[in-house]
Amino acid sequence: MKKPVITVIGSLNMDLVTVTKRVPEQGETVLGEKFHLIPGGKGANQAVAAARLGAEVHMIGAVGSDTFGELLKRQLDNEGIFIDGVKPVTDVETGTAMITVSDGDNRIIVVPGANYALQPEDLEQHEAVIAKSDICLLQLEIPLAVVERAVALAKKHGVFVILNPAPAQPLPPALLEQIDLVTPNEHECGIIFPEQDREKWAAKLVVTEGARGVSIIKNGKHIIVPGFRVPVVDTTGAGDTFNGALAVALSKGMELEEACRFGNAAAALSVTKLGAQGGMPTEKEVIQLLE
Ligand code: ADP
Repeated sequence: MKKPVITVIGSLNMDLVTVTKRVPEQGETVLGEKFHLIPGGKGANQAVAAARLGAEVHMIGAVGSDTFGELLKRQLDNEGIFIDGVKPVTDVETGTAMITVSDGDNRIIVVPGANYALQPEDLEQHEAVIAKSDICLLQLEIPLAVVERAVALAKKHGVFVILNPAPAQPLPPALLEQIDLVTPNEHECGIIFPEQDREKWAAKLVVTEGARGVSIIKNGKHIIVPGFRVPVVDTTGAGDTFNGALAVALSKGMELEEACRFGNAAAALSVTKLGAQGGMPTEKEVIQLLE
């Protein structure tokens, strides 16, 4: 059977995680306990999730011409992801997330950096890759103008589009109309789709609800596709794993409900291990859980 082809147009970030007993006061220096350099960014995470599940994945994004950019590209390359679409930019650094973890209290500063240097025009040279994709998978950690151009290019070629609208921001109805599926979590759903016009978009909505699973519309009725009960270690990247897996499952021709079950299984496995990309399962592991 032909491999699903998925193009992810989105962010690449390096997460710099410091674990400390106490966060410093203004002007103070404290000794931390551990430091981790972890590849992330919702775009890269979703690309890795889809690649582990057997898809041919093409990543389109931007990194700085710096060490983090090289490390992020190498990491994707190691996962078998095509990185020709990852543009090196010279005047901005690679996107970073500075994360301080102190006794369960997380403090995070995200600097989008090169992710915001991606331009709508950059997509033109990747039109052939977009055109041959089964699915285009997008998030909101790159400029909205790039997302809009990506959706327009994908629809020009009849390619199915999934938008994971994170971080949440209001979205133009003209954009939503062109997208096939929108996959917010409950919090994002509340911001993007106020109660009064949620029904209008309900047919396109796949709302992730943590351990409960996901809510979709089937035959005009709201249903829950239940999540899998697993021992939770780290829920970072659960949504990213779900989105990558959903794209793979739909590309393989599964109906939405079955594809969501596949996504739930992949995401459940991801929360049993540490880190976003670290916990992402292979196709074999997902099939085992589904049996
Ligand atoms: P996000 O990570 O974007 O906040 P959610 O928390 O809704 O999104 O999680 C996305 C998906 O991951 C859920 O729909 C579910 O399939 C899976 N998931 C998340 N948390 C758990 C959990 N504790 N146990 C099992 N599955 C989970």
